[in-house]
Amino acid sequence: RAKETGKGKYVVYEEDMQREFDERVVIEKHLRNAIEGQELSLHYQPIQQLGAEGEVWGFEALLRWNSPALGFVSPLTFIRIAEDSRLIIPIGQWVLRRACDFMAGMVKKGLTDGRISVNLSVSQLLQEDFTENVLQTLEQSGLSPRHLELEITESIFMGSFDLIRSKLEYLRRTGIGIALDDFGTGYSSLSYLVQLPITTLKIDKSFIDGIPAEERTASLTSSIIAIGHDMGLSVTAEGVESEVQRRVLEETGCDKIQGYYLSRPLPESQVQAWLESFQNSKIDA
Ligand code: C2E
Ligand code: MG
Ligand code: MG
Ligand code: MG
Repeated sequence: RAKETGKGKYVVYEEDMQREFDERVVIEKHLRNAIEGQELSLHYQPIQQLGAEGEVWGFEALLRWNSPALGFVSPLTFIRIAEDSRLIIPIGQWVLRRACDFMAGMVKKGLTDGRISVNLSVSQLLQEDFTENVLQTLEQSGLSPRHLELEITESIFMGSFDLIRSKLEYLRRTGIGIALDDFGTGYSSLSYLVQLPITTLKIDKSFIDGIPAEERTASLTSSIIAIGHDMGLSVTAEGVESEVQRRVLEETGCDKIQGYYLSRPLPESQVQAWLESFQNSKIDA
């Protein structure tokens, strides 16, 4: 009997793996056509400075894929597949260009003087011409480096640390901001904060979720903010969903918030209207 169960489980496991593999193959196949087919778009999620002024600090660009064959596919699913298949190189370049063009347009119209924050995958950073590409993209868009922030995650430090550090330092010297995303999850090491030219620490949503109910999570968040400040960094809280969370974070000295409480990620066509109504609500208050 034991043997049978064991064998049965093995078969089920194999079927699961086969199914996942099939799904990946299908997604990859359709993803290959996504740029040319104009199936990709960016959504922009506002980030607000806390404190008296409460200005909009900028926006994070978040990739969306509406596939004619598969419908909307979550970035959590397709970005991993894009990374494994190296499709993330052209896709990441498309994201950067689109985000810079959009922000340059907004700055020119006088709608914002803030930053656009763009997520990077490790394989993009490892491209030999990565830094040149970024600077060239900025130039072509007419966007100043001080309007761009690049978001990296701790997964980036799994290898080639020195190479990545020197590229980031080079970009940082031009005025581009560097954010460490999802901080506190994964293979965090506090030494990265010292060794890398980081300007922003983004506290992962999983910590913010614990506010206000979990006292220990709230106090851990407060410690992360203090460490960030000791390192001279600006600290952003991700995934802020309630007024209570906003207030606790403000009291704790957090610099910026991002999350549904402020706004969901917005399609390009809604950003200007959101900015205008945000400014108006501040005047009314
Ligand atoms: P991330 O960079 O940590 O982005 C934040 C994610 O949290 C986004 O999910 C956003 O929609 C979501 N979010 C923001 N505020 C809230 C909130 O209050 N509540 C909840 N429940 N969620 C919130 P999204 O857009 O699905 O993106 C998931 C991840 O995919 C991103 O996490 C990022 O790691 C990756 N990603 C997205 N766009 C790109 C891209 O252009 N390039 C790369 N390499 N990765 C990207
Ligand atoms: Mg991010
Ligand atoms: Mg994040
Ligand atoms: Mg996150």
